[in-house]
Amino acid sequence: MDFSLTEEQTLFRSQIVEFARQRLNTGVIERDTNHEFDREGFLACGEMGLLGLAVPEQYGGLGLGCISSMVAMEALGYGADDQGLAFVVNTQLWTCEMPILNFGTDAQKEEYLPKLVTGEIIGGHATTEPNSGSDAFAMQTKAVQDGDDWIINGSKTFITNAPIADVLIIFTSTGETRGFGGGITAFLVNTDTEGVTIGKPLDKMGLRTSPTAEVTLEDVRVPSSQMLGKKGGGAAIFSSEMEWERSCLFACHLGAMERQLEKCIEYARDRKQFGQSIGKFQAVSHRIANMKMRIEMGRQMLYKVGWLKDSKKRAVLEAAIAKLYVSEAYVQSSLDAVAIHGGYGFMAEYEMERMLRDSVGSVLYSGTSDIQRNIISRWIGL
Ligand SMILES: Cc1cc2nc3c(=O)[nH]c(=O)nc-3n(C[C@H](O)[C@H](O)[C@H](O)COP(=O)(O)OP(=O)(O)OC[C@H]3O[C@@H](n4cnc5c(N)ncnc54)[C@H](O)[C@@H]3O)c2cc1C
Repeated sequence: MDFSLTEEQTLFRSQIVEFARQRLNTGVIERDTNHEFDREGFLACGEMGLLGLAVPEQYGGLGLGCISSMVAMEALGYGADDQGLAFVVNTQLWTCEMPILNFGTDAQKEEYLPKLVTGEIIGGHATTEPNSGSDAFAMQTKAVQDGDDWIINGSKTFITNAPIADVLIIFTSTGETRGFGGGITAFLVNTDTEGVTIGKPLDKMGLRTSPTAEVTLEDVRVPSSQMLGKKGGGAAIFSSEMEWERSCLFACHLGAMERQLEKCIEYARDRKQFGQSIGKFQAVSHRIANMKMRIEMGRQMLYKVGWLKDSKKRAVLEAAIAKLYVSEAYVQSSLDAVAIHGGYGFMAEYEMERMLRDSVGSVLYSGTSDIQRNIISRWIGL
């Protein structure tokens, strides 16, 4: 086994960290307070190639594999203080571009991918509904065929990027059978289509610089050419994009945890109480040692998913394990980071309180921790 990164990966990693520090980190506290999306920063990510990591060069992307994409996302998470912006980028990459790349027709790829990789257009995906979250395949949004068109009716909620999106992958019910039984179908819906209403941005605990909203679909008419994949193929698309998201988005979180660790080490060295650095107190140093251990363990789990995907193997179980571990580790380390910083950890000026708020969503989106445990149980025969 070789755990080392290639020269290209190492170089790209340091370029991304440098880029993020220079272009994405000014005014984060204000944007977080005002729930503001940094469109300029997002477009700069496009120029840097970050919006087309795993998209082939023919569509303007970099054509990277999963491990290289993870390294890039880890670098973004490490370098960028604006984790909401990083979340917008990840949503675009894994839950919009990858499904189009893996399941779209040539025409769909040509229409959407080149614009998504530059940031000219923004995408997202919509599965969750007010009454179906974890039980995603119980969705009520229906698509009914009408000649060569489909008419979509329903409502979606908690949709990342919806207020800024040009296109959303809308998952609908098109049959009686649930999930992989063939009752779910995905459509590419442009948000300016008649009948699509985007609600006002939701007020969130964290990731406030990534806009989220409800989406209502009222008699939305789309041609069959906007169907993504085949009729009844929605569950497979959803499962495939979740593998990408549960690995690469969480690599981004791992990067944030690395920055958090460095800040804690620095603080524990500098801050003196009872005549010595607080890092000399075992209670503090052990907390930091645990933070380091979580990063190392999370990275092994994530990179194993990357290796499986780059070897064209399925990684449903491993992605669920990695997602579960990294998200819970992120929340725990964020709590530890606040504790290490004492009262300063509670203040907006220090990054720790924002990181804690940002981390909490990670145990909810991409399937809650309970759902990951259900997936793991199922895959090991329970
Ligand atoms: C920041 C953020 C961004 C999001 N972005 C998107 C997006 O872009 N697109 C999208 O479609 N959705 C998005 N979501 C929605 C997210 O996927 C759902 O919130 C998540 O799947 C949980 O669904 P729910 O909120 O309805 O909770 P519920 O499913 O109602 O769950 C409530 C509680 O019950 C538990 N529970 C439910 N079922 C089971 C079970 N079978 N076994 C054990 N426990 C169970 C859950 O673990 C949880 O603790 C986002 C959510 C957040 C927080």
